[in-house]
Amino acid sequence: MDKEQKAFERLRLGAEMSKQYYDALLIICYSGGKDSDVLVQLAINSGIDFEVLHNHTTADAPETVQHIRDTFKRLELQGINCTVEYPVYKGKRTSMWELIPQKLMPPTRLMRYCCSILKEKGGQNRAIATGVRWAESRARSKRGIYEDINRNNDKKIILNNDNDDKRLLFERCEKQAKTVVNPIIDWQETDIWDYIKDNDTPCNPLYCELSRIGCIGCPLSSKKNRYAEFRAYPRYEQMYIHAFERMLDVRQQRGRTDNMTWQSGYDVFRWWMEEDFTQYEFTDKDFEEN
Ligand code: SF4
Repeated sequence: MDKEQKAFERLRLGAEMSKQYYDALLIICYSGGKDSDVLVQLAINSGIDFEVLHNHTTADAPETVQHIRDTFKRLELQGINCTVEYPVYKGKRTSMWELIPQKLMPPTRLMRYCCSILKEKGGQNRAIATGVRWAESRARSKRGIYEDINRNNDKKIILNNDNDDKRLLFERCEKQAKTVVNPIIDWQETDIWDYIKDNDTPCNPLYCELSRIGCIGCPLSSKKNRYAEFRAYPRYEQMYIHAFERMLDVRQQRGRTDNMTWQSGYDVFRWWMEEDFTQYEFTDKDFEEN
């Protein structure tokens, strides 16, 4: 069976489960990147009923935000319901720039608090489909085609194949958990570009300039990419520096300055960009739920 047919099967099963367990349409998570464009195209081509959800990260490039708007307009004209979810933290609208002083530290590879608040909040108690691919990151290699995301990690179920035997496991999942289907998890980069080309799928124009589309300055990206992003979007660099300044003010007010020699937001920015590790070593203690 070719990859497209396999993805159709996974989507159809996801849509069926969504209807059966949640009495709702499958949600296609849309980030504005090429993988999610392919996922939406596959959902259309498979003939399932679905809706689309985008989590507004507040740190995406303006071109990405525009591409999302254009895509949603096009999908809505086809009768597909599209929603943009804005980030909320502790009952209030938030943003990357608000979270940094609130959390008392910049987001880092190890402390990715921003992802769980800005990107992964939507789709609670629903079945969702994502464009996650194994080829994208080693950290994702443990993910299965179907996942049952339960607050209790012991109850989390990950399935690496979608045959009928495993299907039974699904039926034992708690109804309240978020169920995730990853239909293109085994697709390679070339599969993605081929599908975009074959289907004439409109794609984020930023792929002509940047190799990776996502939050500007994301700490998961390489240093080279991050500098390229800040060269293209200097205003974002300023917004991070300003947020780091406010973070230092809050740390000062709370007496959280032990072992810290940063004098300015720019000092923090250099540390964050892996230029200077001598100034402060964050520990778990710094991760404060504020
Ligand atoms: S900056 Fe990176 S880690 Fe943070 S929300 Fe964006 S993608 Fe996730």
